[in-house]
Amino acid sequence: MKSPYRQDFPALSRQIDGQVISYLDNAATTLKPRTVIRAVTQYYENNGANIHRGKHRLSEEASDAYENARTTIARYIGAAANEVVLLRNTTEALNLVAGGLELEQGARIVGTLDAHHSQILPWRRAGQLELTRTDARGRLDREHFRQLLRTRPQVVVLTHCSNVTGVIHPVEELIAEVRAAGDATIVLDSAQYLPHGRVNVHALGADFMAFSMHKMLGPSGVGCLFGRSELLAGLRPANLGGGMVDWVDLAGSVDRRVPYRFEAGTPDIASVIGSAAAIDYLDGLDARHWHEHAGHLCSALVGGALEASGVRLIGPPDVRDRTALVSLRLDEGVPTGDVARMLSDSYGIMVRSGHMCSQPLVTELAGDQILRVAAYLYNDVAEIENFYAALSELLSWMA
Ligand code: PLP
Repeated sequence: MKSPYRQDFPALSRQIDGQVISYLDNAATTLKPRTVIRAVTQYYENNGANIHRGKHRLSEEASDAYENARTTIARYIGAAANEVVLLRNTTEALNLVAGGLELEQGARIVGTLDAHHSQILPWRRAGQLELTRTDARGRLDREHFRQLLRTRPQVVVLTHCSNVTGVIHPVEELIAEVRAAGDATIVLDSAQYLPHGRVNVHALGADFMAFSMHKMLGPSGVGCLFGRSELLAGLRPANLGGGMVDWVDLAGSVDRRVPYRFEAGTPDIASVIGSAAAIDYLDGLDARHWHEHAGHLCSALVGGALEASGVRLIGPPDVRDRTALVSLRLDEGVPTGDVARMLSDSYGIMVRSGHMCSQPLVTELAGDQILRVAAYLYNDVAEIENFYAALSELLSWMA
């Protein structure tokens, strides 16, 4: 199954020692299509001015492009532009919510064991964080989740899709359970889901949703926080300074309206403008074709993992409700970091090794470090077959 999108990504023509590369580290970040790269360079070539503060032509043009990008991103998730705060990444978005909500001392917070460190650490600092267990395949223990909801948490933080197992959680059902159980604020980490699927954030019902543009074809340096207007209005800004105030005198200051009061300082203007081009690219795809292609990639990844010797699949063996990502545990004593380096240097195949910034889950399911292979729309099934052939060759050579 050849990807029709491949030709749009110039980095994919890169060779290492005469071999065309296979980029299979897409859960860490995706490559960028030409349209995104062009949008970024055009801003620097034709403009380059700062936004919001100038009255001159270049500043006004840059401000318009910046605000149009916010509208484009907001529309993609079914939100209004003033419900989307533009930050640096998902990590910054989650930290803003965890540090900015008015929580009681020792507030109970419920999360999930497959949370990324960028959820676990800020919420652990904000209150008493408890993580819902998963089964041996990384699916949430729904009974444990219900038990934790009975402790009346103030916040529930949900991972939309795990960056270790690729499991997409049934967040609509989970959100309904949270609403039925109490009045917890619901924060959704959609960093790994939005690259693969659309949402209408209002229909979904979360209070906050965080995601990173660099994981969905956009430039690095842009993270987005959706928040329901009334909740954003009560959130304490993390950073104070220029751009987030309307008025400063010797006695005090008056904050600007939402979302600007969370956006102190000069932002990554070029990357925000490039993010709109990324959304346009995703929006322009034939959704049925894209999802069919993703299904082929996913089947090749899971099928290969189940057949390969010397590896164990971390995560469910079926291809439903998951993205085209597999994590593999290698046999005892085989260093995953060395395998990842040899795959890169000898075969031109880029995959990730380690604990994926989800150490509690990786420790629980794999006991050790893992190898993660994450495909995206520009990958071909043949690249996945080549990966398993290369892995098998390496493992037999290392045995
Ligand atoms: N949440 C999940 C599920 C992730 O996979 C990641 C990154 O891998 C993050 C949060 C953090 O994203 P960022 O590094 O863009 O802040």
